[in-house]
Amino acid sequence: MAVLPQSQTILSFEDARRTVEEHAARVRPGETEDVDLRASLGRVLAAPIVADQDFPPFPRAMRDGYALRAADLTLVPATLEVIGEIRAGAAPEELPREVRSGQAAAIMTGAPAPSGADAVVMVEHTQSSGDNRVTVTRGVASGDNIVPVASEARKGQVLLDPGTRIDYGAIAAAASVGHSTIAVFRRPTVAILATGDEVVEVSAVPGPHQIRNSNSYSVAAQVQAAGGEPQILGIARDDVHSLSNLIQPGLNSDLLLLTGGVSMGKYDLVEQVLAGLGAEFLFSGAQIQPGRPIVFGRVQGKYFFGLPGNPVSTMVTFELFARPMLEALAGMTPRKLVFLHARLKSDIVTKTGLKRFLPACLSGEFENAEVELARWHGSGDVASAARANCYIVIPPDWERIPAGEWVAVMVR
Ligand code: AMP
Ligand code: MG
Repeated sequence: MAVLPQSQTILSFEDARRTVEEHAARVRPGETEDVDLRASLGRVLAAPIVADQDFPPFPRAMRDGYALRAADLTLVPATLEVIGEIRAGAAPEELPREVRSGQAAAIMTGAPAPSGADAVVMVEHTQSSGDNRVTVTRGVASGDNIVPVASEARKGQVLLDPGTRIDYGAIAAAASVGHSTIAVFRRPTVAILATGDEVVEVSAVPGPHQIRNSNSYSVAAQVQAAGGEPQILGIARDDVHSLSNLIQPGLNSDLLLLTGGVSMGKYDLVEQVLAGLGAEFLFSGAQIQPGRPIVFGRVQGKYFFGLPGNPVSTMVTFELFARPMLEALAGMTPRKLVFLHARLKSDIVTKTGLKRFLPACLSGEFENAEVELARWHGSGDVASAARANCYIVIPPDWERIPAGEWVAVMVR
């Protein structure tokens, strides 16, 4: 008989999430390594990215047009003498000596503004007469269309803090200050262990009583997307020996994820085996659906999650609970859950009591986001989960949501 390890702690979604966040706030990432800038996408910064000079290093024209003195345009149209042309990349000695009152210099976007000029008027608001004269038809304020020296960053200023997950914007910032390599944290390793007597390898032809292991692969993909290095450990049988034999090597990783075997069935032995290894259980259920039997704890100094085996439950509980812990192990400041809002396309009727994260399809154009439940047959419906691109989030006290209502959506 399955002996449950200790009194079951079932938390609300918010308390369960907070519990993970509190523990995540205390973990430390591993060593650091240098990676090529081009291989840094998705990695986590281990050292600050610092401005190596003032940005911009010269007063930079933001528009193609004419650099001039704004005070010369108090009355428009005004005709000015053109004393030269400044292209982007012009060296200091190529700049006109000074733009004086009554003068202008043709200038290109990204070029240094010459001394004397305090604004750039856009070429669209000018007429060149070809004889070194330009007529300006619109006034400008001092400073218009010129980015002052060091206004974006001062030399030595921190542009990106350690803990930043590197995206294309961070790559631009790192490139702009001369980083062809960046210091990042080593990716945390995540052991992934499937359980179930009915579960067989992907390459196997399942018997009539068997199903293929999809969880290990979906979880591995989620781990990768969250910045970890998945290590698929195989499939444990629903017996104590098989489970302990695979859990042991899993404890060499930074985080252990098990799928299946955490429900109330007679052969759901994951908690019992972990308890035998000295596990401390931080919660053993959350008031959510799918994913209610989610288990979180610590064993031999490592955190683990027992994710429910139903594929959609596995996916949802990873995102809601395992992800923030993994992000912290990766050195990131874990991201808060972000929900957007969309208009419901068709009614939802549900039962109260659990917070629901239901696979759904988000569509619509621009600001008219629409969402509807994926047609699914419970949390084992892998095909339907694959077609969904988000989850509709329903508070525990909602029973009936009419079409047209705004609902919270967690994007996948
Ligand atoms: P369990 O949480 O072990 O009770 O499993 C719940 C359901 O998920 C059962 O229908 C299992 O067959 C299914 N399941 C468990 N593990 C996997 C897996 N690795 N891949 C796909 N389905 C699974
Ligand atoms: Mg099972």
